[in-house]
Amino acid sequence: MTSLTPERWVRQALCVTRPINPDAFHPGKRTRRSEVAAALALCAQCPVRGQCLQNALDHEDPWGIWGGTTEEQRAVMLRNAA
Ligand code: SF4
Repeated sequence: MTSLTPERWVRQALCVTRPINPDAFHPGKRTRRSEVAAALALCAQCPVRGQCLQNALDHEDPWGIWGGTTEEQRAVMLRNAA
């Protein structure tokens, strides 16, 4: 993982630089599974996935897909780290 500042790593975020429905990263009841799968697939290719996940964990962000993880996955990670 590199030590880019948030301002710099966000510029490399694939969810920012590639056309994808932003709602897929904050799924709601109407979001299709295929949209969530597309978001997770994009995360898997993202060069700043590590920074993104660490940022979400540091801020205990409970909503949405960050760093290739779902809300439920991060909740488990945070519980296990406590
Ligand atoms: S890991 Fe996913 S949510 Fe995070 S910056 Fe990359 S594409 Fe966006």
